[in-house]
Amino acid sequence: MLDYQAKKDLLQHKIILVTGAGDGIGRAAAISYANHGATVILLGRTQAKLEAVYDEIMARNAPEPVIMPLDLATATENDYQHMARLVTLQFGHLDGLLHNAGLLGSLMPLEQLPIATLEQLLQVNVVAQLALTQALLPVLRQAPAASIIFTSSSVGRKGRAYWGAYAISKFATEGMMQVLADECDGSSVRCNSLNPGATRTAMRAEAFPAEDPLTLKTPEQLMPLYLYLMGDDSRHENAQAFSAQPKRPASHLS
Ligand code: NAP
Repeated sequence: MLDYQAKKDLLQHKIILVTGAGDGIGRAAAISYANHGATVILLGRTQAKLEAVYDEIMARNAPEPVIMPLDLATATENDYQHMARLVTLQFGHLDGLLHNAGLLGSLMPLEQLPIATLEQLLQVNVVAQLALTQALLPVLRQAPAASIIFTSSSVGRKGRAYWGAYAISKFATEGMMQVLADECDGSSVRCNSLNPGATRTAMRAEAFPAEDPLTLKTPEQLMPLYLYLMGDDSRHENAQAFSAQPKRPASHLS
């Protein structure tokens, strides 16, 4: 599916919520989904970045997106319920949810990982994902076919020294996807995970400051798989772990 060619109207009339839509991969996904006809709900914590994505989508004459500022580190159940009510009132259904927002945290041995640091990272990378999913499942069920994509990582599929809280959060993400996918099996909602692989973003630069970013794929280059999993061509996929790039050699970890 890495060379999937999406039809221009693949996502026409679809309503898709993207978390972390202001930067990096989430930004590219939001723009790409809008370019393929979707009305995108841009969720993120930095209003100015969301507004820039909004402007870019409008400049492309794509459907007008909706800005939804929310800090996943501090959002409460009330915030999620309020958001779900807004989506229901404005659109009546939700066709797609891309869980993309995430934190890297510090790379260090598990022995030294402060528990408070682990808890903060799990709040954004895991707890918020479940809370958001719980709130949105009723409106996702109103769509004829809905796709939930969980963003994973290579270190969420095989543990690696020093990736501590981040790796734990991505294993939890894979687990959440599998449990939810099993619960949704046979229903109109499907769930899959997607490992983008090493990608030219701020998070990657934080993890590998000495790396030449030009050796990495851009977020835009990964979009065929993001489009495939969001569009109806993937209706039969459930509980699968996808990768947007072939496995890299150990000297080029992602
Ligand atoms: P990024 O450039 O750092 O973007 C992360 C996005 O998440 C930003 O828009 C950020 O908002 C948002 N975010 C962070 N904390 C948030 C919070 N508390 N509330 C709401 N939004 C929040 O990272 P990326 O590289 O695009 O990563 C996207 C996803 O891919 C992540 O789940 C990451 O783990 C995964 N991934 C990335 C790579 C890679 O090589 N880049 C590899 C494997 C997996 P602000 O812009 O406001 O900070």
